[in-house]
Amino acid sequence: MLKDSWGRKITYLRISVTDRCNFRCVYCMPPEGLVWQPHSAIMSYEEIAELVRVAAAQGVKRVRLTGGEPLVRADLPLLIRMLADIPGIEDLSLTTNATLLERYAVELAQAGLNRVNISLDTLNAEKFAQITRGGSLERVIRGIDAAERAGLLPIKINAVAMRGINDDEFFDLARLTTDHPWHLRFIELMPLGNQKPWGPEFPSPQQAFISIQEIFDLLSPLGLVPEDGLAGSGPAIEYRLAGGLGKIGFISPLSEHTFCQRCNRLRLTADGYLRPCLMSNQEIPVLPTLRSGKSVLPVLQEAVAAKPESHKLATESAPEGRKMIQIGG
Ligand code: SAM
Ligand code: SF4
Repeated sequence: MLKDSWGRKITYLRISVTDRCNFRCVYCMPPEGLVWQPHSAIMSYEEIAELVRVAAAQGVKRVRLTGGEPLVRADLPLLIRMLADIPGIEDLSLTTNATLLERYAVELAQAGLNRVNISLDTLNAEKFAQITRGGSLERVIRGIDAAERAGLLPIKINAVAMRGINDDEFFDLARLTTDHPWHLRFIELMPLGNQKPWGPEFPSPQQAFISIQEIFDLLSPLGLVPEDGLAGSGPAIEYRLAGGLGKIGFISPLSEHTFCQRCNRLRLTADGYLRPCLMSNQEIPVLPTLRSGKSVLPVLQEAVAAKPESHKLATESAPEGRKMIQIGG
């Protein structure tokens, strides 16, 4: 059992499989891009699976693959199959921008992937291309369709909320849950990506921040019906539109103080660092231990013990280290 110093059980691993991406989202990375890690510095599928085996034996039940864009890494279904075969792993999911999902959805489902989270901030094709710096909304919609047909359910859609960018679409995004059994989750913009100006068509990143409370208030005329209890072990507080097939979730890493109390996760970067808290620069290298053939259990325990009680963004400035794309959001 992995339990941190504050009594929280760690049952969830978020694993970044690559620091590369086929998008350049304004809030996630600078326009000039970043220097990619060389392949030799990236964890192999065998190394990832070995770490997950050890974590699963200690009570980790859920694994999410992320990136960068996880579907740009070659043979991802191979890793899915390896992880799905590990005893104790009950829930295997993927966070993706969905651009390559039409091609891979069936293969991923057959390999043992349970479900997907898809990032989609706008329903306007032109705005979508601006935010992602070149992405195609149409391909993403086809990716969502393919995931549904392949049974990667429930489909969760993550929308980063940004004032002056997509706040005019909150109603339309929320109303997607009327006719679709999707979970639409609004997420607060975090100061972990690109804090410099995003371009003349955008407000400053600081102006773009909008709190979940404000989004909730904006949406309240729609009539939000609370779901019972909290959303499983996840960070979203969930509601439903009356008669709606799907759910609406609110994820407030910055403004909600109970967010950290419910934290049950560790992150693993693509280059093999365990990150106890998304919003702190502290990282513990695990790759040298794996490559030396020694047990990684002490390293996992060290990372769990290093989890802070909560992040310090209310009193300290944002961590200056890696960008979101390099951590795995
Ligand atoms: N490429 C995949 C995707 O976009 O779904 C997975 C990696 S991406 C880093 C994971 C999630 O982090 C996405 O939902 C994205 O919107 C979110 N994200 C990235 N930068 C963010 C930021 N500065 N604040 C809040 N969420 C952010
Ligand atoms: Fe790529 Fe996802 Fe970051 Fe967008 S949010 S740049 S899709 S990693």
